[in-house]
Amino acid sequence: MSKKGGFYESVEYYFDRAAPHTGLPHGLLDQIKVCNSVYRMNFPVKLRDEVKVIEAYRVQHSHHRTPTKGGIRFSNHVNQEEVMALASLMSYKCAIVDVPFGGAKGGVKINPWEYTPEELEKITRRYTAELIKRNMIGPSVDVPAPDYGTGSREMAWIYDTYRAFKGDEIDAAGCVTGKPVTQNGVRGREEATGRGVFYGIREACNVPEDMKKIGLSAGTKGKTFVLQGLGNVGTFTGKICQEEGGMILVGVGEVEGAIYNPDGIDINDLLEYRKANGSMLNYPDVQSFGKDQREIALEFECDVLVPAALESVITINNASRIKAKIIAEAANGPVAADAEEVLLAAGKLIIPDFYLNAGGVTVSYFEWLKNLSHMRFGRMDKRFNQGRMMDMVNLIERMTNRDVTNEEMKIIARGADEIDLVRSGLEETMI
Ligand code: GLU
Repeated sequence: MSKKGGFYESVEYYFDRAAPHTGLPHGLLDQIKVCNSVYRMNFPVKLRDEVKVIEAYRVQHSHHRTPTKGGIRFSNHVNQEEVMALASLMSYKCAIVDVPFGGAKGGVKINPWEYTPEELEKITRRYTAELIKRNMIGPSVDVPAPDYGTGSREMAWIYDTYRAFKGDEIDAAGCVTGKPVTQNGVRGREEATGRGVFYGIREACNVPEDMKKIGLSAGTKGKTFVLQGLGNVGTFTGKICQEEGGMILVGVGEVEGAIYNPDGIDINDLLEYRKANGSMLNYPDVQSFGKDQREIALEFECDVLVPAALESVITINNASRIKAKIIAEAANGPVAADAEEVLLAAGKLIIPDFYLNAGGVTVSYFEWLKNLSHMRFGRMDKRFNQGRMMDMVNLIERMTNRDVTNEEMKIIARGADEIDLVRSGLEETMI
């Protein structure tokens, strides 16, 4: 069995532990475990009048189902083993929610916060060109999506580059997901991972016997939680846990440090404060810890700890100091395998990453389907909705004695909109 400290080693270790339970022959298990294609590239980009060589990867873990699917990460820590681990997790993630893709992942070794948007655009387009050249992107080949350090903006650049090369391809929009809604994306994708994380936590908390075992009452209401990471996943997890779960945010860890207030922190207010001040430290009524102590957030007293940033943040070194009763793995691989043993021995409940954060790829699947079908969600029942919409328009016009505004029209149209379809589809898949 593999060692357990590093990220890829941890993924291999978990695989080796689960494999005997499948009853499958060794050869087949070996084939499931390995990464089918690993593409490492170094490409030049001219930035600030200098040529910079960028190291990047795309790994397709499993071709058992195509296209392969998985995000693209922009981070200084990117390396081959990390991308291999993330691609492997994507295969298992897709399998667990029965979304018909093989796993893949991409990584570009840059710190995205050090570059201007124009520079990032150049890097993203050059990376995409590299993938096109090697036939490692396409609606039926391999479909990227956002991950750590990327978002809908980068996906729009990827889509546009793909179209520039292959404009005549009818399904081109399905070459990438997580696109802006105005660029063939779907409503609900942006918050999908966080929403899925909340559904997973909610389901775990709704099993009274399990909650009793760890000394908690059933349900999410009133449960305290700590977030590590205020990126896309952390932000939406925080908002939905607070707003729909009635949970209380008591601590946050981010690059600039950590904050704690056992009486609760309003997530929306905190996000506004951080945006205005460039940091969450010194937010009113909290205990603040500087950059050097930011890891302390993982050790704050709370019911649910949500690591929502990078892998291997809970290791053998800090596992025994984790106080949370539930560890909700919103990030990919935040608990190293040797740390997991310590946490389980201490009676904690770990909700595993490839179930908990599968909401993102689930809604990516809806986006991809929509792109391939060329049909707007809700179109099928538009006939009925159109009637209802007109009734509403007539009513407003009669009552106000004026035409409905564009804004009102949009609100009315939303009644028949895709967000509800996406939301209910996600809930059905996750539960
Ligand atoms: N990067 C996300 C993940 O780790 C989303 C992948 C996707 O939508 O394809 O699951």
